[in-house]
Amino acid sequence: RTYTEEDIREMVKEENVRFLRLMFTDLFGMIKNVEVPISQLDKLLDNKLMFDGSSIDGFVRIEESDMYLYPDLSTWMVFPWGNEHGKVARIICEVYTSDRKPFAGDPRNNLIRVLEDMKAEGFTDFNIGPEPEFFLLKLDENGKPTTHLNDSGSYFDLAPMDLGENCRRDIVLELENMGFDVEASHHEVAPGQHEIDFKYADALKAADNIQTFKLVVKTVARKYNLHATFMPKPMDGINGSGMHLNMSLFNGSGNAFYDEKGELQLSQKAYWFLGGLLKHARSFTAVCNPIVNSYKRLVPGFEAPVYVAWSGSNRSPLVRVPSSRGASTRFEVRSVDPAANPYLAIAAVLEAGLDGIRNKIEPDDSVDRNIYRMNLEERTEENITDLPSTLHNALKEFEKDDIMKKALGEHIYQSFLEAKKLEWASYRQEVTQWERDQYLEMF
Ligand code: ADP
Ligand code: GLU
Ligand code: MG
Ligand code: MG
Repeated sequence: RTYTEEDIREMVKEENVRFLRLMFTDLFGMIKNVEVPISQLDKLLDNKLMFDGSSIDGFVRIEESDMYLYPDLSTWMVFPWGNEHGKVARIICEVYTSDRKPFAGDPRNNLIRVLEDMKAEGFTDFNIGPEPEFFLLKLDENGKPTTHLNDSGSYFDLAPMDLGENCRRDIVLELENMGFDVEASHHEVAPGQHEIDFKYADALKAADNIQTFKLVVKTVARKYNLHATFMPKPMDGINGSGMHLNMSLFNGSGNAFYDEKGELQLSQKAYWFLGGLLKHARSFTAVCNPIVNSYKRLVPGFEAPVYVAWSGSNRSPLVRVPSSRGASTRFEVRSVDPAANPYLAIAAVLEAGLDGIRNKIEPDDSVDRNIYRMNLEERTEENITDLPSTLHNALKEFEKDDIMKKALGEHIYQSFLEAKKLEWASYRQEVTQWERDQYLEMF
């Protein structure tokens, strides 16, 4: 729902809100916030609140640092963690430049732009249902995260195997307090690993929800003396954490992916959208798997995708078509991990899919047998390519694809590329323990 200024003033009184956290997201998906006392509310509602954007990663240069925060009233939310000094509320803001234009380096503004283009092409909503996974780790005596997993449970285990259960329940309760529609929560396959699924929402809300979700998970975990990490592959030898994105396009008459009479009951537009996803998969990987560590997850044997293919039955490929039809007809993109900036990842997959629809890109046939048992020759025959194996390779693909430039806009595209190249350059100079173990005595 959207709130009016009146609603907000009323809630501030009712709930004794004393501080406002004004939030936005930087290039790397980190939530940034400026906290102001409630006395600044009028200024905020009048779009007159300024901040210095120059120290935000990937934002602007010093000489153009003054920026405005425009509150999105629909994102108003009072945190349940108040104390005797009163409560704290948050509101997500759009970043505007000093000459009052939407700032092109704000990932959320960028998603709004891409969604407007989508609407101009006749669709009403892009719905996203994320499945973020995370690990709970024990803290040491200084409150720093260790690499000790907090339990040895596995998929769908119950207590006492799953010591994270109470913590996870507490997270679910807090999320519900904040208006989340939690659909399920369970222990994941790896020890110490969990998943909480919440109901899909339109793309902008879904991305906001992912940001709020991470904040809540981390905050509640602390209360249990645990650290929650969304790092894609914290331990080798066990599953990593994905953030599968379920997605569907709606138009005036409902789910545009559903066609009762279509093959697999999927519409022509659904097939084209899928064609676009597969065509641009190698280039959106840089956005959906944005850190060096992301690529340690995209290896065979741990339920994460490695090849570009789709299936209506099998869970291993990049894109799966879950069996529900009607309004729930959707694609599940399984490569995305929770290190991705959700605003950018969603813009990237949407633009890829829309390119498919615009250019009527037909997908290759589905692959319904286990791709991991096929050899290179069999894969080549079926036109199955590999996802990039490193951030470096992913960036090379990203750099070649104009659709990614369209998805992120020139400003973000350039800053992202620059920052990620630096990240790779720093990593590749590192000599790891693995190398010393392998080579020190051998050579
Ligand atoms: P899985 O079978 O991969 O474990 P889940 O059932 O855990 O999938 O998650 C399904 C997700 O898909 C939920 O977030 C749900 O809200 C979402 N979803 C359902 N219908 C749609 C739709 N039409 N568009 C996008 N997401 C949807
Ligand atoms: N953890 C797996 C991954 O890395 C996914 C497991 C699942 O299917 O839920 O994507
Ligand atoms: Mg899962
Ligand atoms: Mg899934």
